[in-house]
Amino acid sequence: MSSQSAQAESTAALRALLAAPKRCAIVTHYNPDGDAIGSSIGLQHILRAAGHAAHVILPNSPPAFLHWIPGYADAVPFDKDQERALSIIQECDILFCLDFNRTDRVAGLEQPLKAAPLKVLIDHHQEPEGFANISFSDPQACATSQMIVDIVRELGYAKHIGAEAATCLYAGIVTDSGSFRFGSTTPHTMRVAADLMERGVHITTVHEAINDENRPGRLKLLGFTLNERMEVLPELSTAIISLSMADLRRFEFEPGDTEGFVNYGLSMRGIRLAAFFMERPDVVKVSLRSKGKLAVDRLMKDHFDGGGHHNAAGGQSRESLDTAVARFRKLLPGFIASQPA
Ligand code: 5GP
Ligand code: MN
Repeated sequence: MSSQSAQAESTAALRALLAAPKRCAIVTHYNPDGDAIGSSIGLQHILRAAGHAAHVILPNSPPAFLHWIPGYADAVPFDKDQERALSIIQECDILFCLDFNRTDRVAGLEQPLKAAPLKVLIDHHQEPEGFANISFSDPQACATSQMIVDIVRELGYAKHIGAEAATCLYAGIVTDSGSFRFGSTTPHTMRVAADLMERGVHITTVHEAINDENRPGRLKLLGFTLNERMEVLPELSTAIISLSMADLRRFEFEPGDTEGFVNYGLSMRGIRLAAFFMERPDVVKVSLRSKGKLAVDRLMKDHFDGGGHHNAAGGQSRESLDTAVARFRKLLPGFIASQPA
């Protein structure tokens, strides 16, 4: 963690809190990804096994490729069941905030979250806002799910990590580490994964559930995107993909279908930066991925109302799709020149 003593202090505070059975609510970020869902539901299993009440609240539902996560059916999406989501937050003793560090990342749940008297943050994004009473913040960690394993061990709760919790947490680590390939993957990550495997994770099943459940329409959209909507700028080591709402309609788009598309740009020889622009009814959503020193979180923060990590970040724009892409292109030469390979 960022500071050993801060972590020891947070662990001691959390241990004291959990000394008697508590009502725990767990909330994660809007448009939850594998790590958001895996860490939240994983922690829910562990807290329940340790004798606490625990419920996961999601600001909105995740894409279908994450619905297989054991315990997912029990999570309460705010977009589907507002009343229940709110009452769980209002009645909890402890609100765990996982995989985000700014209150606006929970969208419609922001006010109820702020009103909760006791918040515990566990997160690996840069520059936490500091809204929690107890914070575990580690921007070096490859996944919030990995942090959950570390914290749970420190609490003496390792015995409560059963096969279901282990599967959730392993899925979170796999998705956020790019299947153990991103720079954030460490020997510790591998040891945590090995420990989870020993607790009953069936890794083939997890990888198949994540990767091999595509609809034909999604693969056709991918083929179209790479063929028709990807522009390669070799002199800037950059690939830009953009999809309009008309493109998405043509392939009967479902949420989650474009997950991972940006990585194809980065898989080309000589490419250090991949950008993906997607038109939505309200905003144009931007996803950036980079290799090496190119700090894409900075670029998103400064120019696209976003943020994220050094090599993976996102943001948005209220401009038209074409205008947003054009503005990005103008920024590119300066950005690439600022960090020579
Ligand atoms: P993705 O490109 O997969 O949507 O997001 C990549 C990373 O960027 C995620 O870890 C997420 O935390 C961050 N991110 C994505 N969109 C936004 C955004 O709109 N605002 C901020 N602050 N971070 C974002
Ligand atoms: Mn994460």
